[in-house]
Amino acid sequence: MQTIETYDFAGKKALIRVDFNVPLNENFEITDDTRMRAALPTIKKVIEKGGSPIIMSHLGRPKSGPEDKFSLKHLVAHLSELLDGATVKIAPDCIGDEAKAMAADLKPGEVLILENLRFHKEETAGDEEFAKKLAENGDCWIMEAFGTAHRAHASTAVIAKFFPNDKLFGYLVDSEVASLDKVVANPQRPMTAIMGGAKVSTKITIIENMLNKVDNLIIGGGMIFTFVKAMGGNIGSSLCEDEYLELAKSIIEQAKAKGVNLVIASDCVAADKFAADANTEVCPAGDIKEGWMGLDVGPDTIATFNEVISNSKTVLWNGPAGVFEMEKFAEGTKVIGDAVVEATKKGAFSLVGGGDSVAAVNKFGIADGVSYISTAGGALLEYLEGKVLPGIAAVRGE
Ligand code: AMP
Repeated sequence: MQTIETYDFAGKKALIRVDFNVPLNENFEITDDTRMRAALPTIKKVIEKGGSPIIMSHLGRPKSGPEDKFSLKHLVAHLSELLDGATVKIAPDCIGDEAKAMAADLKPGEVLILENLRFHKEETAGDEEFAKKLAENGDCWIMEAFGTAHRAHASTAVIAKFFPNDKLFGYLVDSEVASLDKVVANPQRPMTAIMGGAKVSTKITIIENMLNKVDNLIIGGGMIFTFVKAMGGNIGSSLCEDEYLELAKSIIEQAKAKGVNLVIASDCVAADKFAADANTEVCPAGDIKEGWMGLDVGPDTIATFNEVISNSKTVLWNGPAGVFEMEKFAEGTKVIGDAVVEATKKGAFSLVGGGDSVAAVNKFGIADGVSYISTAGGALLEYLEGKVLPGIAAVRGE
Protein backbone atom coordinates (compact mmCIF):
# COMPACT_ATOMS: atom_id res chain seq x y z
CA MET A 1 0.00 0.00 0.00
CA GLN A 2 1.19 3.50 -0.84
CA THR A 3 1.93 5.92 1.99
CA ILE A 4 2.52 9.65 2.08
CA GLU A 5 6.21 8.85 2.45
CA THR A 6 6.46 6.53 -0.55
CA TYR A 7 4.08 8.28 -2.94
CA ASP A 8 5.53 10.55 -5.60
CA PHE A 9 3.52 13.76 -5.47
CA ALA A 10 5.70 15.71 -7.91
CA GLY A 11 3.46 17.58 -10.33
CA LYS A 12 0.38 15.77 -9.01
CA LYS A 13 -2.94 17.15 -7.82
CA ALA A 14 -3.71 15.40 -4.55
CA LEU A 15 -7.35 15.28 -3.51
CA ILE A 16 -7.34 15.29 0.28
CA ARG A 17 -10.57 14.46 2.11
CA VAL A 18 -10.17 16.35 5.37
CA ASP A 19 -12.52 17.16 8.21
CA PHE A 20 -12.66 20.96 8.15
CA ASN A 21 -16.05 20.97 9.84
CA VAL A 22 -14.94 23.76 12.16
CA PRO A 23 -17.18 25.97 14.31
CA LEU A 24 -17.79 29.48 12.96
CA ASN A 25 -19.23 32.47 14.85
CA GLU A 26 -21.88 34.85 13.48
CA ASN A 27 -19.18 36.79 11.62
CA PHE A 28 -18.01 33.56 9.99
CA GLU A 29 -14.79 33.58 11.98
CA ILE A 30 -13.33 30.23 12.96
CA THR A 31 -13.62 29.81 16.73
CA ASP A 32 -11.64 26.56 16.96
CA ASP A 33 -9.22 25.54 14.22
CA THR A 34 -8.03 22.27 15.81
CA ARG A 35 -9.35 20.20 12.92
CA MET A 36 -7.60 22.36 10.35
CA ARG A 37 -4.32 22.22 12.23
CA ALA A 38 -4.63 18.47 12.56
CA ALA A 39 -4.49 18.02 8.77
CA LEU A 40 -1.56 20.39 8.22
CA PRO A 41 1.25 17.79 8.29
CA THR A 42 -0.35 15.93 5.39
CA ILE A 43 -1.11 19.06 3.38
CA LYS A 44 2.38 20.42 3.95
CA LYS A 45 4.00 17.15 2.97
CA VAL A 46 2.16 17.13 -0.36
CA ILE A 47 3.41 20.65 -1.01
CA GLU A 48 6.94 19.79 0.12
CA LYS A 49 7.01 16.87 -2.31
CA GLY A 50 6.02 19.06 -5.25
CA GLY A 51 2.28 18.40 -5.37
CA SER A 52 -0.81 20.59 -5.22
CA PRO A 53 -3.30 19.80 -2.46
CA ILE A 54 -6.98 19.92 -3.39
CA ILE A 55 -9.00 20.06 -0.21
CA MET A 56 -12.38 18.37 0.06
CA SER A 57 -14.54 18.73 3.17
CA HIS A 58 -18.01 19.17 4.48
CA LEU A 59 -18.99 22.03 6.76
CA GLY A 60 -22.15 22.11 8.85
CA ARG A 61 -25.39 20.52 7.76
CA PRO A 62 -26.66 22.28 4.65
CA LYS A 63 -30.22 21.15 3.95
CA SER A 64 -30.53 21.37 0.21
CA GLY A 65 -27.97 22.99 -1.99
CA PRO A 66 -25.53 25.83 -1.35
CA GLU A 67 -25.88 28.09 1.68
CA ASP A 68 -23.52 30.98 2.23
CA LYS A 69 -23.06 30.27 5.94
CA PHE A 70 -21.74 26.79 5.16
CA SER A 71 -19.38 27.94 2.41
CA LEU A 72 -15.78 26.83 2.74
CA LYS A 73 -14.76 30.27 1.46
CA HIS A 74 -14.79 31.30 5.14
CA LEU A 75 -11.76 29.06 5.65
CA VAL A 76 -9.59 30.23 2.77
CA ALA A 77 -7.70 33.05 4.48
CA HIS A 78 -7.02 31.04 7.60
CA LEU A 79 -5.75 28.02 5.70
CA SER A 80 -3.38 30.28 3.79
CA GLU A 81 -2.15 31.68 7.09
CA LEU A 82 -1.65 28.20 8.53
CA LEU A 83 0.34 27.29 5.40
CA ASP A 84 2.71 30.23 5.82
CA GLY A 85 1.04 32.36 3.18
CA ALA A 86 0.60 29.71 0.48
CA THR A 87 -1.82 30.57 -2.32
CA VAL A 88 -5.21 29.10 -1.44
CA LYS A 89 -8.06 29.31 -3.97
CA ILE A 90 -11.65 28.23 -3.68
CA ALA A 91 -13.68 26.55 -6.41
CA PRO A 92 -17.34 27.65 -6.48
CA ASP A 93 -18.47 24.04 -6.62
CA CYS A 94 -16.77 20.75 -5.78
CA ILE A 95 -17.57 19.23 -9.18
CA GLY A 96 -18.01 20.58 -12.70
CA ASP A 97 -15.98 22.33 -15.37
CA GLU A 98 -14.87 25.30 -13.31
CA ALA A 99 -13.54 23.17 -10.47
CA LYS A 100 -11.78 20.93 -12.96
CA ALA A 101 -10.21 23.89 -14.75
CA MET A 102 -9.07 25.47 -11.50
CA ALA A 103 -7.59 22.15 -10.37
CA ALA A 104 -5.79 21.69 -13.67
CA ASP A 105 -4.32 25.20 -13.48
CA LEU A 106 -2.83 24.74 -10.01
CA LYS A 107 0.92 25.19 -9.83
CA PRO A 108 2.95 23.01 -7.47
CA GLY A 109 2.53 24.37 -3.95
CA GLU A 110 -0.78 26.08 -4.67
CA VAL A 111 -3.83 24.88 -2.81
CA LEU A 112 -7.42 24.60 -4.01
CA ILE A 113 -10.38 24.15 -1.69
CA LEU A 114 -13.41 22.59 -3.33
CA GLU A 115 -16.71 24.03 -2.13
CA ASN A 116 -18.67 22.16 0.57
CA LEU A 117 -19.25 18.56 -0.52
CA ARG A 118 -22.61 18.45 1.24
CA PHE A 119 -24.06 21.10 -1.06
CA HIS A 120 -24.77 17.99 -3.12
CA LYS A 121 -26.99 15.34 -1.55
CA GLU A 122 -25.09 12.79 -3.63
CA GLU A 123 -22.15 13.11 -1.21
CA THR A 124 -23.84 11.51 1.79
CA ALA A 125 -25.80 9.17 -0.51
CA GLY A 126 -22.46 7.75 -1.65
CA ASP A 127 -23.40 8.35 -5.28
CA GLU A 128 -20.92 6.78 -7.65
CA GLU A 129 -21.41 9.23 -10.51
CA PHE A 130 -20.76 12.13 -8.10
CA ALA A 131 -17.67 10.38 -6.71
CA LYS A 132 -16.41 10.00 -10.27
CA LYS A 133 -16.82 13.73 -10.89
CA LEU A 134 -14.94 14.50 -7.68
CA ALA A 135 -12.18 12.13 -8.76
CA GLU A 136 -11.78 13.97 -12.07
CA ASN A 137 -10.28 16.88 -10.14
CA GLY A 138 -7.16 15.03 -9.04
CA ASP A 139 -4.51 12.37 -9.64
CA CYS A 140 -4.68 10.68 -6.24
CA TRP A 141 -6.91 10.51 -3.16
CA ILE A 142 -5.80 10.88 0.43
CA MET A 143 -8.19 9.87 3.19
CA GLU A 144 -7.52 12.22 6.10
CA ALA A 145 -10.95 12.42 7.78
CA PHE A 146 -11.14 9.64 10.35
CA GLY A 147 -14.24 11.21 11.91
CA THR A 148 -16.25 10.37 8.79
CA ALA A 149 -14.54 7.07 7.97
CA HIS A 150 -17.53 5.11 9.24
CA ARG A 151 -19.67 6.60 6.48
CA ALA A 152 -19.68 5.24 2.94
CA HIS A 153 -19.95 8.72 1.47
CA ALA A 154 -18.80 9.64 -2.03
CA SER A 155 -15.66 11.46 -0.89
CA THR A 156 -14.80 9.21 2.07
CA ALA A 157 -15.07 5.78 0.44
CA VAL A 158 -16.77 5.49 -2.95
CA ILE A 159 -14.16 7.70 -4.65
CA ALA A 160 -11.51 5.05 -3.93
CA LYS A 161 -12.50 2.97 -6.92
CA PHE A 162 -11.32 5.71 -9.25
CA PHE A 163 -7.84 5.60 -7.75
CA PRO A 164 -7.01 1.88 -7.61
CA ASN A 165 -3.28 2.56 -7.32
CA ASP A 166 -3.29 6.11 -6.04
CA LYS A 167 -5.16 6.06 -2.71
CA LEU A 168 -3.55 6.53 0.65
CA PHE A 169 -4.09 7.43 4.28
CA GLY A 170 -3.14 10.86 5.54
CA TYR A 171 -0.90 11.03 8.61
CA LEU A 172 -3.82 11.60 10.95
CA VAL A 173 -5.87 8.63 9.83
CA ASP A 174 -2.76 6.49 9.67
CA SER A 175 -1.85 7.19 13.29
CA GLU A 176 -5.45 6.82 14.46
CA VAL A 177 -5.74 3.41 12.80
CA ALA A 178 -2.32 2.30 14.06
CA SER A 179 -3.24 3.33 17.60
CA LEU A 180 -6.62 1.66 17.49
CA ASP A 181 -5.07 -1.51 16.12
CA LYS A 182 -2.69 -1.63 19.07
CA VAL A 183 -5.84 -2.04 21.12
CA VAL A 184 -8.23 -3.88 18.84
CA ALA A 185 -6.04 -6.03 16.62
CA ASN A 186 -2.94 -7.00 18.56
CA PRO A 187 -2.89 -5.84 22.15
CA GLN A 188 -0.08 -6.57 24.58
CA ARG A 189 -1.43 -8.52 27.51
CA PRO A 190 -2.89 -8.19 29.99
CA MET A 191 -5.37 -6.02 28.16
CA THR A 192 -8.00 -4.07 30.08
CA ALA A 193 -11.02 -2.23 28.77
CA ILE A 194 -12.66 0.29 31.08
CA MET A 195 -16.21 1.00 30.04
CA GLY A 196 -18.13 3.75 31.74
CA GLY A 197 -20.69 6.43 31.05
CA ALA A 198 -24.37 6.66 31.55
CA LYS A 199 -25.99 3.81 29.70
CA VAL A 200 -25.41 0.19 28.80
CA SER A 201 -27.47 0.55 25.65
CA THR A 202 -24.99 2.85 23.89
CA LYS A 203 -21.98 0.68 24.75
CA ILE A 204 -23.37 -2.81 24.55
CA THR A 205 -21.90 -3.72 21.16
CA ILE A 206 -18.47 -2.52 22.22
CA ILE A 207 -18.72 -4.48 25.46
CA GLU A 208 -19.65 -7.64 23.57
CA ASN A 209 -16.83 -7.17 21.08
CA MET A 210 -14.34 -6.44 23.86
CA LEU A 211 -15.26 -9.67 25.62
CA ASN A 212 -13.45 -11.45 22.79
CA LYS A 213 -10.31 -9.40 23.19
CA VAL A 214 -9.66 -8.43 26.78
CA ASP A 215 -8.30 -10.08 29.90
CA ASN A 216 -10.07 -7.60 32.18
CA LEU A 217 -13.30 -5.75 31.57
CA ILE A 218 -14.00 -2.98 34.06
CA ILE A 219 -17.52 -1.61 34.19
CA GLY A 220 -18.06 1.81 35.75
CA GLY A 221 -20.49 4.72 35.49
CA GLY A 222 -24.25 4.61 35.51
CA MET A 223 -24.30 1.34 33.57
CA ILE A 224 -23.06 -0.51 36.67
CA PHE A 225 -26.53 -0.52 38.10
CA THR A 226 -28.15 -2.45 35.28
CA PHE A 227 -25.61 -5.20 36.03
CA VAL A 228 -26.08 -4.95 39.79
CA LYS A 229 -29.86 -5.15 39.46
CA ALA A 230 -29.50 -8.09 37.08
CA MET A 231 -27.58 -9.86 39.85
CA GLY A 232 -30.42 -9.19 42.28
CA GLY A 233 -29.13 -6.05 44.02
CA ASN A 234 -31.18 -3.11 45.31
CA ILE A 235 -30.12 -0.07 43.38
CA GLY A 236 -32.57 2.56 44.70
CA SER A 237 -33.15 5.29 42.13
CA SER A 238 -29.85 4.71 40.29
CA LEU A 239 -29.79 4.79 36.52
CA CYS A 240 -31.03 1.49 35.15
CA GLU A 241 -32.19 0.18 31.81
CA ASP A 242 -34.61 -2.57 32.67
CA GLU A 243 -34.85 -3.75 29.09
CA TYR A 244 -31.12 -4.61 29.29
CA LEU A 245 -31.23 -6.76 32.42
CA GLU A 246 -31.20 -10.01 30.47
CA LEU A 247 -28.37 -8.81 28.30
CA ALA A 248 -26.40 -7.79 31.40
CA LYS A 249 -26.85 -11.31 32.76
CA SER A 250 -25.70 -12.75 29.47
CA ILE A 251 -22.58 -10.54 29.53
CA ILE A 252 -21.76 -11.86 32.99
CA GLU A 253 -22.18 -15.44 31.70
CA GLN A 254 -20.16 -14.79 28.55
CA ALA A 255 -17.34 -13.28 30.59
CA LYS A 256 -17.22 -16.39 32.75
CA ALA A 257 -17.25 -18.69 29.73
CA LYS A 258 -14.47 -16.73 28.02
CA GLY A 259 -12.33 -16.43 31.14
CA VAL A 260 -12.56 -12.64 31.18
CA ASN A 261 -12.12 -10.98 34.55
CA LEU A 262 -15.27 -8.85 34.68
CA VAL A 263 -14.92 -6.15 37.32
CA ILE A 264 -18.19 -4.55 38.32
CA ALA A 265 -18.32 -2.01 41.14
CA SER A 266 -18.88 -3.60 44.55
CA ASP A 267 -19.48 -0.34 46.41
CA CYS A 268 -20.57 3.13 45.39
CA VAL A 269 -21.04 6.71 46.50
CA ALA A 270 -24.79 7.10 46.81
CA ALA A 271 -26.57 10.46 46.89
CA ASP A 272 -30.04 11.55 47.96
CA LYS A 273 -30.42 13.63 44.78
CA PHE A 274 -28.68 14.25 41.46
CA ALA A 275 -26.97 17.46 42.54
CA ALA A 276 -23.57 18.83 43.48
CA ASP A 277 -24.78 19.56 47.04
CA ALA A 278 -26.46 16.20 47.60
CA ASN A 279 -26.00 14.25 50.85
CA THR A 280 -23.81 11.26 50.17
CA GLU A 281 -22.78 7.97 51.73
CA VAL A 282 -20.69 5.00 50.71
CA CYS A 283 -22.64 1.74 50.51
CA PRO A 284 -22.62 -1.58 48.66
CA ALA A 285 -23.66 -1.07 45.02
CA GLY A 286 -26.39 -3.66 45.56
CA ASP A 287 -27.73 -2.20 48.79
CA ILE A 288 -28.72 1.39 48.05
CA LYS A 289 -31.46 3.02 50.11
CA GLU A 290 -34.77 3.73 48.47
CA GLY A 291 -34.76 7.10 46.74
CA TRP A 292 -30.95 7.26 46.74
CA MET A 293 -28.79 6.80 43.66
CA GLY A 294 -25.24 5.66 42.99
CA LEU A 295 -23.30 8.46 41.31
CA ASP A 296 -19.72 7.26 41.66
CA VAL A 297 -17.83 4.08 42.46
CA GLY A 298 -16.79 3.56 46.09
CA PRO A 299 -13.33 3.15 47.72
CA ASP A 300 -13.20 -0.67 47.57
CA THR A 301 -14.05 -0.59 43.89
CA ILE A 302 -11.53 2.15 43.26
CA ALA A 303 -8.81 0.04 44.87
CA THR A 304 -9.70 -2.95 42.67
CA PHE A 305 -9.85 -0.83 39.50
CA ASN A 306 -6.52 0.70 40.42
CA GLU A 307 -4.80 -2.62 40.83
CA VAL A 308 -6.17 -4.12 37.62
CA ILE A 309 -5.37 -1.06 35.53
CA SER A 310 -1.86 -0.49 36.87
CA ASN A 311 -0.88 -4.05 36.00
CA SER A 312 -2.16 -3.86 32.42
CA LYS A 313 -0.04 -3.64 29.30
CA THR A 314 -2.86 -2.30 27.13
CA VAL A 315 -5.68 -0.09 28.36
CA LEU A 316 -8.72 1.18 26.56
CA TRP A 317 -10.76 3.75 28.44
CA ASN A 318 -14.19 4.73 27.23
CA GLY A 319 -16.52 6.60 29.57
CA PRO A 320 -16.29 8.02 33.09
CA ALA A 321 -16.75 5.98 36.30
CA GLY A 322 -19.16 8.46 37.83
CA VAL A 323 -20.72 11.88 37.48
CA PHE A 324 -17.24 13.41 37.30
CA GLU A 325 -18.62 16.82 36.39
CA MET A 326 -19.56 17.20 40.09
CA GLU A 327 -16.71 17.28 42.60
CA LYS A 328 -18.37 14.86 45.03
CA PHE A 329 -18.64 12.16 42.36
CA ALA A 330 -15.36 12.69 40.52
CA GLU A 331 -13.03 10.50 42.58
CA GLY A 332 -13.59 7.21 40.71
CA THR A 333 -12.93 8.79 37.33
CA LYS A 334 -9.91 10.66 38.68
CA VAL A 335 -8.35 7.52 40.12
CA ILE A 336 -8.95 5.63 36.87
CA GLY A 337 -7.16 8.44 35.07
CA ASP A 338 -4.22 8.27 37.49
CA ALA A 339 -4.04 4.49 37.16
CA VAL A 340 -4.05 4.73 33.36
CA VAL A 341 -1.20 7.23 33.54
CA GLU A 342 0.66 4.96 35.96
CA ALA A 343 0.28 1.96 33.65
CA THR A 344 1.45 4.07 30.71
CA LYS A 345 4.55 5.14 32.66
CA LYS A 346 5.33 1.47 33.18
CA GLY A 347 5.19 0.87 29.44
CA ALA A 348 1.54 0.11 28.73
CA PHE A 349 -0.19 1.45 25.65
CA SER A 350 -3.26 3.46 26.68
CA LEU A 351 -5.98 4.77 24.46
CA VAL A 352 -8.67 7.12 25.68
CA GLY A 353 -11.67 7.71 23.46
CA GLY A 354 -15.24 8.81 23.59
CA GLY A 355 -16.28 12.39 24.32
CA ASP A 356 -16.70 12.18 28.06
CA SER A 357 -13.52 10.33 28.93
CA VAL A 358 -11.60 12.83 26.80
CA ALA A 359 -13.34 15.62 28.72
CA ALA A 360 -12.34 13.90 31.99
CA VAL A 361 -8.72 13.51 30.90
CA ASN A 362 -8.61 17.21 30.06
CA LYS A 363 -10.35 18.21 33.28
CA PHE A 364 -7.83 16.29 35.39
CA GLY A 365 -4.91 17.54 33.29
CA ILE A 366 -3.51 14.11 32.45
CA ALA A 367 -3.71 14.22 28.66
CA ASP A 368 0.09 14.08 28.39
CA GLY A 369 0.22 10.93 30.46
CA VAL A 370 -1.75 8.68 28.12
CA SER A 371 -0.49 7.18 24.86
CA TYR A 372 -3.27 8.26 22.53
CA ILE A 373 -6.46 10.28 22.73
CA SER A 374 -9.04 9.71 20.06
CA THR A 375 -11.65 12.36 19.40
CA ALA A 376 -13.26 10.50 16.52
CA GLY A 377 -16.69 9.92 18.05
CA GLY A 378 -18.89 7.67 15.93
CA ALA A 379 -16.03 6.30 13.83
CA LEU A 380 -14.10 5.31 16.96
CA LEU A 381 -17.10 3.61 18.52
CA GLU A 382 -17.78 1.61 15.35
CA TYR A 383 -14.14 0.53 15.15
CA LEU A 384 -14.29 -0.65 18.75
CA GLU A 385 -17.54 -2.45 17.99
CA GLY A 386 -15.56 -4.47 15.46
CA LYS A 387 -17.23 -2.96 12.41
CA VAL A 388 -15.40 -2.39 9.17
CA LEU A 389 -15.12 1.34 8.46
CA PRO A 390 -15.84 2.00 4.78
CA GLY A 391 -13.33 4.84 4.59
CA ILE A 392 -10.53 2.66 5.94
CA ALA A 393 -11.47 -0.44 3.97
CA ALA A 394 -11.62 1.62 0.78
CA VAL A 395 -8.00 2.72 1.09
CA ARG A 396 -6.82 -0.74 2.01
CA GLY A 397 -8.70 -2.20 -0.92
CA GLU A 398 -10.72 -4.55 1.26
P1 AMP B 1 -21.77 8.60 28.08
O1 AMP B 1 -22.06 9.77 27.20
O2 AMP B 1 -22.71 7.47 27.94
O3 AMP B 1 -20.32 8.19 28.03
O4 AMP B 1 -22.06 9.12 29.55
C1 AMP B 1 -21.29 10.09 30.17
C2 AMP B 1 -22.08 10.66 31.30
O5 AMP B 1 -22.41 9.65 32.21
C3 AMP B 1 -21.33 11.70 32.09
O6 AMP B 1 -21.88 12.95 31.83
C4 AMP B 1 -21.53 11.28 33.54
O7 AMP B 1 -21.93 12.34 34.37
C5 AMP B 1 -22.63 10.26 33.44
N1 AMP B 1 -22.58 9.28 34.53
C6 AMP B 1 -21.52 8.57 34.94
N2 AMP B 1 -21.83 7.81 36.01
C7 AMP B 1 -23.13 8.04 36.29
C8 AMP B 1 -24.03 7.55 37.27
N3 AMP B 1 -23.63 6.68 38.19
N4 AMP B 1 -25.29 8.00 37.25
C9 AMP B 1 -25.69 8.89 36.31
N5 AMP B 1 -24.88 9.39 35.35
C10 AMP B 1 -23.62 8.97 35.33
